[in-house]
Amino acid sequence: MKKEQKFPKLATKDEITKIKELFLKNYPDSVTELNYSNLFELLVAVMLSAQCTDKRVNIITPELFKNYPTAKDMANADIEEVKEIIKSCSFFNNKAKNLIALSKMIVEEFNNEIPLDQKKLIKLPGVGQKTANVILIEYTGANLMAVDTHVFRVAHRLGLSKAKSAKDTEADLAKKFKTNLHQLHQAMVLFGRYKCKAINPECEDCFLKDLCKSKESFKAV
Ligand code: SF4
Repeated sequence: MKKEQKFPKLATKDEITKIKELFLKNYPDSVTELNYSNLFELLVAVMLSAQCTDKRVNIITPELFKNYPTAKDMANADIEEVKEIIKSCSFFNNKAKNLIALSKMIVEEFNNEIPLDQKKLIKLPGVGQKTANVILIEYTGANLMAVDTHVFRVAHRLGLSKAKSAKDTEADLAKKFKTNLHQLHQAMVLFGRYKCKAINPECEDCFLKDLCKSKESFKAV
């Protein structure tokens, strides 16, 4: 296998249009793979999923949600008990601290209501722009992009961005795709997770192979 180019050529306007159409066609109704049944659970699950797989989060959350079903319950939780439940998740010490702190803020500063507003959401401890956008995309269908490791990799392989940071990649994708960003976000996450994988992407069976700027890097030599 050849070495993957760090920054392949950028896609043309026509190619971007086709890539967008193909993502929407192949992933018409994608939603997050995180399990949740209300906004508080979604917030907790998305926060836990940073640097951790959705699969792992889905193993952890049933007990967590059972013990702390609301922000008020979590705000009063014993941190050691929370740590014990989420200990198989990466950065569990910090995440336990943030879960309790953000729940206190929801109760005390937001009158027990999780704000569906990016600027307010990022005030919550442990919630950055990506987490806030994922919550808004999933819960409200907002026309926003969020860039995780999968979206970052796919965007660069397809020549949709040469940006070095997730934030700048998000801005490139939002500017280039303009609409349907929430669907495109979900599509790119699933496509990156199962098809355009970090190692051994399935290029031969890829619906974007004719538009891809990186497939040559993965051909056996
Ligand atoms: S052809 Fe390969 S590298 Fe390119 S988008 Fe498809 S799976 Fe990813």
